Amino acid sequence: MNEHTLSLRLERVAANVPAGARLADIGSDHGYLPVALMRRGLITAAVAGEVAATPFHAARRTVRDNALEQQISVRLADGLAAIEPGDGITAISLCGMGGETIRDILEAGRAHLGGGERLILQPNGGEQPLRQWLMDNGYRILTEELLRENRFYYEIIVAERSGPVIYTDEELYFGPLQMQARSPQFLAKWQRMLRQKHKTLASLEQALQSVPEDKVQEVARQARWITQLLA
Ligand code: SAM
Repeated sequence: MNEHTLSLRLERVAANVPAGARLADIGSDHGYLPVALMRRGLITAAVAGEVAATPFHAARRTVRDNALEQQISVRLADGLAAIEPGDGITAISLCGMGGETIRDILEAGRAHLGGGERLILQPNGGEQPLRQWLMDNGYRILTEELLRENRFYYEIIVAERSGPVIYTDEELYFGPLQMQARSPQFLAKWQRMLRQKHKTLASLEQALQSVPEDKVQEVARQARWITQLLA
């Protein structure tokens, strides 16, 4: 993967960035996403934010190698602190991190959110707490994608602030739009998850003395939901 050829996962994230956006890519690593989008003429400007020095320097190198320093600002910053008021950001991508980490970045950076930005989120697990944050903060989920690459399933969640929105516990767990669409990929993912839950339950039952009862109940509840979903 590089700024010319994105992974399938980042290619699908790229497809959800609105044309002409001013993008903040937070946790940009090498900066491949904003650089690829700018090279293709699909965005107007970008900020690549990184909290760690090595990926920050890698992103600076990618931007410099493509002579895009005027269009893409690379900033060493924690989360949404990379966004400055004058940037006029219209879309924010947070990709390749755990859903809880993305949620924590959004929560800590609320002061940097104007409210009109489209969020393009690609959590690696932890989708449920991330969707919970979106609901609690008045974000409606506009699009959900599920894709499989290198044997891993990845979700992409696109959301915009809309005012109050209510999702059920099951919708927060499975994804409200994916639950409706029930794509073959989605059903295959949850068949695999059900097998994993049953394995987890079996090992928890063996270690019952040391495992808190509410942990066992939580896994059992999820297994029930998945069974109902697949029925
Ligand atoms: N977004 C790229 C992608 O999807 O391929 C890179 C994903 S990489 C696994 C996660 C990156 O997020 C790392 O480079 C890490 O330094 C950065 N990161 C983690 N927490 C961050 C934070 N609070 N603020 C900015 N960057 C962060």
